Amino acid sequence: MSAPESSLVHCRELTRTYGSGRSAVHALRGLDLDVGRGELAALVGASGSGKSTLLHLLGAMDRPSSGLVRVDGADLGAMNDSEAARFRRERLGFVFQFFNLVPTLSALDNVALPARLAGAGAAASRERAAALLERVGLGGRPDARPEELSGGQQQRVAIARALANEPALLLADEPTGNLDRATGAAVLDLLQELVVERGLTLIMATHADDAVARASRTIRIEDGRLS
Ligand code: ADP
Ligand code: MG
Repeated sequence: MSAPESSLVHCRELTRTYGSGRSAVHALRGLDLDVGRGELAALVGASGSGKSTLLHLLGAMDRPSSGLVRVDGADLGAMNDSEAARFRRERLGFVFQFFNLVPTLSALDNVALPARLAGAGAAASRERAAALLERVGLGGRPDARPEELSGGQQQRVAIARALANEPALLLADEPTGNLDRATGAAVLDLLQELVVERGLTLIMATHADDAVARASRTIRIEDGRLS
């Protein structure tokens, strides 16, 4: 096994405090975590334990109050806003509970968008998006807008979009939280297949036993620390 320093995800004494003084909320309180490449990690813990806060830090969407967060060799806390935005766009994929697709864009254009934003040409971006839509089982609906798709289908589009730039790390926050059990199970099957097939690393905050059952590892968080 490789040394923790070379892990894909490496956090040390990570803290995140919201607010200050008497109203301060200590969401993370000195968290140490290493996640290796190829892992499918389920992040579990009670509501309010710090799961989303941790995902935001790993996703370069937020910055630690103190401590180290390194992803794929990059020190995220040391990045300025434009470096963080670029890292997010080009190296990470996100899957959210409420899908977060662009409502005015077709499924194909939603999936093509990250590559366009990263500077790829229109034709190449759309070609790649078409292949990804095909892979997630929506090859027949490239022109559908999100409102024309079911929740499960929207989440498949969101997964395809998350893969558009071949991210090193995929982060998912309650990806089945807004889906019924059977639809959620199918989405989890897809995520698990993609992790294996593409050598992805996935960290997924979840309450679902189904998701924990598919994980290669369970990370338990309690009051802002691993338990
Ligand atoms: P989880 O995702 O496990 O439910 P969160 O990371 O969302 O937990 O929240 C951890 C703690 O931080 C909770 O006490 C929550 O109320 C608080 N918190 C989260 N985001 C903010 C914020 N933007 N401002 C203030 N407090 C926050
Ligand atoms: Mg949360």
